[in-house]
Amino acid sequence: MAKNIHSPLVVGNWKMNPSTLADARKLFLDTRKEIGRKKLNTQVIVAPPFPFMSELQKLSPSQRIMIASQNVHFKKNGAHTGEVSLPMLQSVGVSAVIVGHSERRMSGESDEEVSKKIETVLKTKTTIIVCIGETKRDNHGNYFGVIEKQLHSALSVVPKPKLSQVVIAYEPVWAIGTGATATPEDVHEMKLFIQKIIALKYGKTYMNKVRILYGGSVKKENAQQLLDISEVNGFLVGGASLKSKEFAKIINIADAYAKRTL
Ligand code: PEP
Repeated sequence: MAKNIHSPLVVGNWKMNPSTLADARKLFLDTRKEIGRKKLNTQVIVAPPFPFMSELQKLSPSQRIMIASQNVHFKKNGAHTGEVSLPMLQSVGVSAVIVGHSERRMSGESDEEVSKKIETVLKTKTTIIVCIGETKRDNHGNYFGVIEKQLHSALSVVPKPKLSQVVIAYEPVWAIGTGATATPEDVHEMKLFIQKIIALKYGKTYMNKVRILYGGSVKKENAQQLLDISEVNGFLVGGASLKSKEFAKIINIADAYAKRTL
């Protein structure tokens, strides 16, 4: 991906939506129209369902909106019914891959599988967006242990020179699709915690090489505060990315933030 590592990244995860290619084309084109033609300091990615990727990629040949996949298999090919490999995704213009989304972890994807996928993707230049997040919060800070375990496992396969290819999406599971968001202060605290783990493993100078996103009911109403207070490098947006106007508004907020702070 071309832009500066510190430029914000806004990723729309369409999950298993919309239902038809015609609707996917419409959503993509509406999103493109809402973003407009102005120069962006923000990288914009959408992650549609597999059947739509090839077609949507052709609708943004300049890669103003890039395409990510919501998952990948760690093998190149073979007897893996229902799976999709990285070479397949690359052949239809996918530039980033999401792994370890909580909805996949809930259907059994383990830390070990997530790290195998990361290892595979890092053999290429494709950006990898690794989702981590606790299922619940308590008063004893046990959720930090959950994040530490997921992050250590993910980073165990990432060598220093590949670090900037990795994006960490902190997505507290209890905030995904629920309308509940972590407070900007809590997200800031978690960003610092994630950076501390990176610094301890790779050295302080590497801490800023990894973009840290927040995901969990991001909306146009809370995006500004999340950027100003949490100082995250962007968002992973689910529900709101299915509404072109709202998604574009979030992108505009991130872009204005970039212009002020970069
Ligand atoms: C997501 O799907 O990663 C997500 C954060 O969803 P939502 O924005 O709907 O909570």
